[in-house]
Amino acid sequence: MDANLSRGEAPAGGSAYAPAFLDALVGAGLLVPTGVQGLYGRSAVFEAVGDGLNGAITALGADQLAEVLRFPPAMGQRDFETSEYLQSFPQLAGTIHSFCGDERGHRRLLARLQDGEDWTDQQQPSGVVLTPAACYPIYPVMARRGPLPEAGKVVDVLSYCFRHEPSLEPTRMQLFRQREYVCLGSPERIVAFRQLWMERGQQLARALQLPLEVDVANDPFFGRGGKIVADSQREQKLKFELLIPVNDGAPPTACMSFNYHMDHFGALWDIRQADGGVAHTGCVGFGIERLVLALLRHHGLDPARWPSGVRATLGSA
Ligand code: AMP
Ligand code: ZN
Repeated sequence: MDANLSRGEAPAGGSAYAPAFLDALVGAGLLVPTGVQGLYGRSAVFEAVGDGLNGAITALGADQLAEVLRFPPAMGQRDFETSEYLQSFPQLAGTIHSFCGDERGHRRLLARLQDGEDWTDQQQPSGVVLTPAACYPIYPVMARRGPLPEAGKVVDVLSYCFRHEPSLEPTRMQLFRQREYVCLGSPERIVAFRQLWMERGQQLARALQLPLEVDVANDPFFGRGGKIVADSQREQKLKFELLIPVNDGAPPTACMSFNYHMDHFGALWDIRQADGGVAHTGCVGFGIERLVLALLRHHGLDPARWPSGVRATLGSA
């Protein structure tokens, strides 16, 4: 891969390399290219569909009595380290750096800039890291509150997430939104929660008249050791995905995931059940952009002309 591509910049010639679906989305103004792969602006039409999806997910989860929590798309470096994300997915992480120097340092930075040299080593880590998954910021918060209620707890989160995986596939973005319900409690509670949401996820996709399949999956753990962890995650069926065909000539795309973390996060942050046992956790994640793209792929680029049942599900009938 050349240096520009690994930095996520569009190849010379830009959209000539892009798959036809991405071209069509850009042509219709639904996604606005920035010159960086996987980093797009979204049009009002695109956003309205995303809002409709979020509304449908809220309606589907009304009986969960979830606590709604919204965080900015970043978390503290300490909490990020505690999450062990760097042990599992160092290739996806993104950190925020800022200039913290004096005027001499500023002159050095500007000289580098003027000479077309790398200036980023003139910055320091800010102590802030981009959120890699919408549920991550809640675990330290829940831990600080003390033991969970007797019946466990469900939290509703929505966040832009960063993953450094530049791609020409419009479904693989570097910044995208995940809506999640996260369940914390006993193992039985989490297993039942995940089963319920696997059914509800399929119910939503069917109401949206999208072709779907559900399959066991694994996260992209890094390196040779990661392969062993991924195999074990599959064997234990800890992750399922709901897949929908979206991209040209590519296998179907994961648009929702249903995850059982066992006591991984509970142990890392010392989250306790009411009886003092380490909490188990699980989450259902809806990829907002991927679901919007699936709808655009299957029902056409003009949501005003989508089937009335689909529009009704999105609250736009
Ligand atoms: P995960 O945490 O990997 O299970 O992701 C949860 C959901 O987020 C996936 O099912 C996708 O719908 C969405 N997602 C994950 N990675 C990306 C990406 N690079 N671009 C857009 N959506 C994504
Ligand atoms: Zn999650």
